Amino acid sequence: MFHIAAYSMSEQKGNLKKTAVLILGAPGAGKGTQGAVLGKIPRFYHYSSGDVFRQLDTRTELGQKFIEYSKRGELVPDELTIQLMVSHMDDLVTTHQYKPDVDILVLDGIPRNVDQAKMLDQHIEIHQVFHLSCPDREELARRMRKRALKEQRLDDASDVVIQNRIRTYEESTKPILDYYGSDRRCDIDATQSPARVLYEILERLQELESYQQIASLTI
Ligand code: ADP
Repeated sequence: MFHIAAYSMSEQKGNLKKTAVLILGAPGAGKGTQGAVLGKIPRFYHYSSGDVFRQLDTRTELGQKFIEYSKRGELVPDELTIQLMVSHMDDLVTTHQYKPDVDILVLDGIPRNVDQAKMLDQHIEIHQVFHLSCPDREELARRMRKRALKEQRLDDASDVVIQNRIRTYEESTKPILDYYGSDRRCDIDATQSPARVLYEILERLQELESYQQIASLTI
């Protein structure tokens, strides 16, 4: 099933790899905040896997799977996650909300482990990894508890789940940094103000050749 959907994304849309940057960081590091702002800028499209999961109808099988895994602070299985992304991206392309030839994808929350990164390699080219670094785990937990109250997030509600999510990040997600290598990596101190973090991301983006090319297009 995954292979059929994956085939359709690359083949139907001309087989070009999609240009993307990845925001990587522990839960609570500020990926969603930065992704949402960047997504407001013309020629950027913010794709948050967590948001797409949260929008699922909870009566569906996939919606139930999401609840089952996320409430324990675990990742949804890779095949399901990639399959959802591939079909969601196909819809976004078909409805012209995201234009792969002129938009840069801002990936937030996906890929979340090396296996997912490998699966996405055939469709997407990651030009830069913004690593929002926050070694202070207590600060991350504090941000998640605050978010649980404001956004009613089940997965941020208990200390056990919070610790599990941070552990999952350390064990499964952080190795992605080595997978993409130091050339594509940009470390940013996530304990700075959100405006300062944004400033540093934008500063680096200006230097990216892929961004300069897209920004120079007259559309
Ligand atoms: P945060 O922003 O706090 O890091 P997200 O909103 O990205 O968290 O994700 C919430 C939950 O959704 C995760 O804990 C996980 O269960 C599920 N999820 C999101 N993205 C992925 C992914 N790429 N692979 C597997 N599960 C995912």
